[in-house]
Amino acid sequence: MRQHILNDAETSAGRSEQASDLWYESEDINANDVPYLMSLLRESFSQWLAESNGLPLMNSVALSLFTPELAVADTAGALARNVPMDEVALQAAQEAFAAQAASIVHGSGCEAVAIPLMRRKDEQQPFAVLTAVAPEADDVLIAQLQAATYHLRGCFYRRFERMFIADIIQHQRISERDAQHRASLFAAAKRLYDGIDVGSVLSEMMQSLVALYPDSRIRLYLSQDHMKGDARVKPLHFNHPSGDFVAKSFLEAKPFVRGREGGLVDLAVPMSGKQAVYGVLRLLINEDLWDAADLPALVLLADTAGSAFENAKLYEQSNVLIGELRLINELTKLLSQSLKLKDIFNYTTSELLRIYQADCCCLLSYDKTLNKFVVMSSNLPSFENEQFSIEYGFTGVVYRSQEPVIISDYWQSNNVSSRWMDDSGSRSLIAAPILSGSEVVGVILVGHRSPNYFSYENYKLLQVLSSHIGLAMSNASLHAEVRRMVITDHLTGLSARHYLNDRIQRKQRKDRCGSLIVVDIDKFKSINDTYGHQVGDQILMQVSETIKASIRETDIAARWGGEELAIYLPEIRREQAYRIAERIRKKVELETHPSVTVSCGLSEWTFEDEKVSVESLFYRADMALYQAKNSGRNRIYIG
Ligand code: GH3
Ligand code: MG
Ligand code: MG
Repeated sequence: MRQHILNDAETSAGRSEQASDLWYESEDINANDVPYLMSLLRESFSQWLAESNGLPLMNSVALSLFTPELAVADTAGALARNVPMDEVALQAAQEAFAAQAASIVHGSGCEAVAIPLMRRKDEQQPFAVLTAVAPEADDVLIAQLQAATYHLRGCFYRRFERMFIADIIQHQRISERDAQHRASLFAAAKRLYDGIDVGSVLSEMMQSLVALYPDSRIRLYLSQDHMKGDARVKPLHFNHPSGDFVAKSFLEAKPFVRGREGGLVDLAVPMSGKQAVYGVLRLLINEDLWDAADLPALVLLADTAGSAFENAKLYEQSNVLIGELRLINELTKLLSQSLKLKDIFNYTTSELLRIYQADCCCLLSYDKTLNKFVVMSSNLPSFENEQFSIEYGFTGVVYRSQEPVIISDYWQSNNVSSRWMDDSGSRSLIAAPILSGSEVVGVILVGHRSPNYFSYENYKLLQVLSSHIGLAMSNASLHAEVRRMVITDHLTGLSARHYLNDRIQRKQRKDRCGSLIVVDIDKFKSINDTYGHQVGDQILMQVSETIKASIRETDIAARWGGEELAIYLPEIRREQAYRIAERIRKKVELETHPSVTVSCGLSEWTFEDEKVSVESLFYRADMALYQAKNSGRNRIYIG
C-alpha cells in the first residue's frame, strides 16, 4: 500500500530536479506503479496549477492531461470546452503517445497541441500527454505548453519520489512493527513457558494479546473448563451462536478469518499443543488495525500458549500423580502395621476424611451370614454398627455394579435414596467397592455437603485407595482366621488348651475370683467300643455344644485333652459354678444320643489365696474329678 505521508511544505521547498545526486532521484516509474499513475498525475497536475497560477497560457486555452490509456486525468484552462474540442485534444494526445513526440491536430475552428511527458530513464517513453486546445496554436502557445510540460513533469517526479520514500518508510515501519511483534511474542513465549500452572499460562497469553492488540475484544474458548476467574475465558460449546466458526477452528485445528459488520475482523485461532487442541482464541479487531500478515504471529502465539498449557497440565497431572502415590504409600504402610480389622476400618475412615477434606465417611463390610452390609466405621455415630440390605442406597448400587460411583449433586438425582446422604446432609458423593477377587466384601462412602465437590481425579484416587484398603482388610481377615484356627479345637469348636491357659493367667492378674470345671465323659472307651469312634466323636461334639449353650459369652470352654473338657468361669464363685456344672451334667444326660453321663471336678480361686496359679487350679479340679469318678460317676465334686 503506497501512501503519501510526507508533508508537502517540508519536502518541496528548495528542491531542484537537477541539483541532486540522491539515489531515489534516479528511480523511475515502472509497471508496479501503474495502479497509482492516475492519482499521481492528478496530484501533480493540481500542484503544477498551484505553482503556475496566473500564467497567460491559462486564459486562452483548454488544458487536458491524458494517461497512456488515454483517460483524462485532469483538466484546466479558462477556455470554455465543448465535445468537438475534446475530440481534437484526444486525437492530438493519441498521436503524441504514438509518435512519442509533440503533435498538432487541426479541428474546425480550433487547434490542439499535445506534448508528451517523457520518463526519466527512458526518454522515448511518455507516461502522460498534456494537451492544449486554442482557436489557433501559434509558436508562443507551443513554447508555453512545452515549458508547462517540463514544470508538470518536475511536479510529477517530486510526487513520485515522495511516494517512493513514503513506501520505503512504510515498509520500514512494518518491519519495525514486525520486529516489535516478534520481540513481544518471544517475551510472551518465554513467560508462557515460565508459567507452570494452567491459570498463569492462560492469563499470560491474554495479557500478551491485550498488549499487542489493545482495543480488540479477546475471548478464549476452552474445551475443558479450567480457569474460572477470568470472564474472557469461556467453555467451548458447539451450539454457541458463534459456535460454527469457533468449533470449526477447533475441529480442523486451523485459523479462520472473516469480516464482520461495523468494520470488524473476526478471528478464530486454535490453541494447539503437541497432543491436542485445547481451545480457540477469538479476536474481534478493528479492520484498520488488522493486517493479514499478523496471522502467522497470532497462530504462533496461540500454539506457544497451547504447548505451554499442555506442559502445565502435564506438570499438574504429574504433581497429582506424585501426591497420590505418596498418599497410597503412606496409607498402605500404616495399614500394613495393623492386623486388626477394627483398627484398619477406623484408620481408613479418618484418613479418607483428611485426604478429601470430606464431611463424612463410612466403611461398610459385607456380612455373609446376615447377607447384609454392616457399618464398620463411620464419623456419624448414629450409623455405627448399622445394618443395611444389600440392595439399599448407594452401597447397593456399588454392590451390584462392582464399580465406583460419583454423584455431583444428590439433590438433583432422584434415582437412589440414601439415609446416609440424607442424615449427613451430603450432596456430593464418591463411593467405591472393596473387592476381594471378584466379590464385593465392603463399600467405602465419602460425602460432602457442597454439590460438585469431588473431581474425577478424586474419584479415580478412591478407586485406587479402595484396592489397597481391600488388601489390608483381607490380610487382617486372613490373620484373624489363622489365629482363630490356632486357638480353636477343630473337632469341638471349643478353645484350645493353650489358649485357655493364657486366658486364665491373664484373668488371674486382674479379676478377684474365678472357677474351673473339668468335665470328663464317663466310660467313654466303651462308647467307642460299642458304637465306633465316629459316634464317639459325635458324642464329644454334642457334649461340647451342651457346654457352649450353658455358659456366658465371657466364659471360656476348652478341650483340655481327649474327652476331657474344661470351663473357666471368670468372677464366679464355686457355689454358682456348681450350679452351672450341675445344669451341664443333667443336660448331657438328657441330650446326648446315645446317652452318656459326665463327671465334673470343680475348683475356685480368689484374690485372698496364698498362691494363685493355673496349675493349682487344674490340680484341684483334677483331684475333685478323680473323686467324682471313684464315688460312682455322673456327679460333681469340689476340690
Ligand atoms: P472313665 O472316664 O469313666 O473312667 O472311663 P473312660 O472309658 O472314659 O476312660 P478314660 O477317660 O480313661 O478313656 C478315655 C477314652 O476316650 C480313650 C479314648 O478311646 C477315648 N477318646 C479320647 N479322645 C477321643 C476322641 O477324640 N474321639 C473318640 N471317639 N474317642 C476319644
Ligand atoms: Mg472318661
Ligand atoms: Mg478321660
